[in-house]
Formats: sequence, structure tokens, C-alpha cells
Amino acid sequence: MKKSLKNKEKTQKKRKKYDIFKKISIFFNKLIFPDDIKCVFCGRDIPSFYEKPYCSNCEKLLPKNDGKRCLICDEPIGNEAVICDHCQKNKRYFKKARAPFLYKDLVRKSLLSYKSDNKRYLAKGYAIIIAKEIKGWKIDLITYVPMTKRKEKERSFNQSKLLAKNLAKILNLPCLETLEKVSETKSQKTLNYLERQKNLLSVFNLKDKELVKNKNVLIVDDIITTCATLNTCAKILSKHANNIFVCALARNALKKEENENVEL
Ligand SMILES: [Zn+2]
Ligand SMILES: [Zn+2]
Repeated sequence: MKKSLKNKEKTQKKRKKYDIFKKISIFFNKLIFPDDIKCVFCGRDIPSFYEKPYCSNCEKLLPKNDGKRCLICDEPIGNEAVICDHCQKNKRYFKKARAPFLYKDLVRKSLLSYKSDNKRYLAKGYAIIIAKEIKGWKIDLITYVPMTKRKEKERSFNQSKLLAKNLAKILNLPCLETLEKVSETKSQKTLNYLERQKNLLSVFNLKDKELVKNKNVLIVDDIITTCATLNTCAKILSKHANNIFVCALARNALKKEENENVEL
């Protein structure tokens, strides 16, 4: 008994030390990389961060999602269709999604670093880019895809939440946690379409319907992959909200063979 108490104390001490170390590293990170003068993709100094938070070099190389795309989910499409196969087959609970980049090259590298290397300062630049892309959208409220409390503690921050907060500041809109994630998402691989939907629906809860009642809600995420999670969040919110919109920094363009098996 005593031994386990001692162990617990030891772990708590270790955790505290780790938290202090993390805070110090964030502080120095901010000193070395002030969040409003560096290109969000390569770290070079740039003259007008608030106009364009990336350098002219990166601009030439950025994988922009500006080709032919689905009118609903913003997925690049190779044929003459205006709505992609996924959106034709499955009901979308959001009106429109927008992601200015494709999830590859410089953008993928930057987003991975944002999450794994704790580069929280990048959220401001990402938010500036997204704000320009969704200009004119009529939104009352910003929200984000939540993490379980345990995962958020483990990761130390929720990348979607931080992005949503920065975007809300720019657009002068409220940012609220409207959903909660009550358990981790189980592997979807062995499930059929209906099972997958049920699986995802059981993972998220609406916190308070009054928060979103009759509002136009924007859900923010860092990457749109299959739309499965975002569509589930949109479905839950859409029971009470007016319109749901979705935005992210990057869109994962799926390969053809993945399209056939993936949750839609
Ligand atoms: Zn750059
Ligand atoms: Zn689509």
C-alpha cells in the first residue's frame, strides 16, 4: 500500500517536472519563433504576416486545393462532376466545406510539426489563411472537433480547438465547445457503413442544445480526411442548429482504391 502511494507520488512529481519543462520549452520557442513574423511553412522571416503568413518561396511550392473540386466537401475531382461520388451517395449534414491546401508536401510537414512538436504558434498563421478562404460565409458561432479529456491531456493541446480559437479571434465570433468526445474512436476497418456511422455517433455528445439552437455553426478541424468525423459532428449539431459549415487547413485527396473502401 505504502509502496503504491510512493509510486504515485513519484509519478506526480515526474509529471510536474515534465509540465514545467514543457512550459519553459514553449516560452523559448516563442522567443526564437515569434508567432507573427515567420513563414508558417519554412520559418523564414516575412514582411507582412497578417497579409500572407508564408514566404514567396513557399507560395510557389504550396499544394493549393484550387483545382476542380466537389461543391460540397471540397474534395478534388478528376472528372466533369460537380459533386463527388461520396457526397452523391451519402447525406452530408454540412452545407459546405473548405480547405485551401492539399494534405501533402510543405503543408503536411507543417501540420505534423504543429501537432507533434507542439508548435502552437503556427495556429495563428493557419487561421489567417482559413479566414480569407471563408470570407462571406454567414456564421454565428465557431466550434471544433473535440478530443477525449485523456487524449487532450496526453497531447497537451487540441490542435482543432487552438485553430478554432485563433479563427474566432480574427472573425470576431464566439468559439464554444459544443460537443464532447466521450470515448476513443474504435477502428473502423472491419465495420460496414451503418456500423461505422453508429460507432462514430456513440463517440460524440452534444453538450447543450441551447448553444447551437438556430445558429449557423462552423466546425473547424486541421485536416479533412474522409469527412466521416466531421459529418458525424455536423449530424449531431444539425438537429438544433440552422446551417453547418466546415473548414480546415488541408484536404486529404484520397487515392482511387482508398475511395472505394473508406467510410464516406
Ligand atoms: Zn516559407
Ligand atoms: Zn464531396
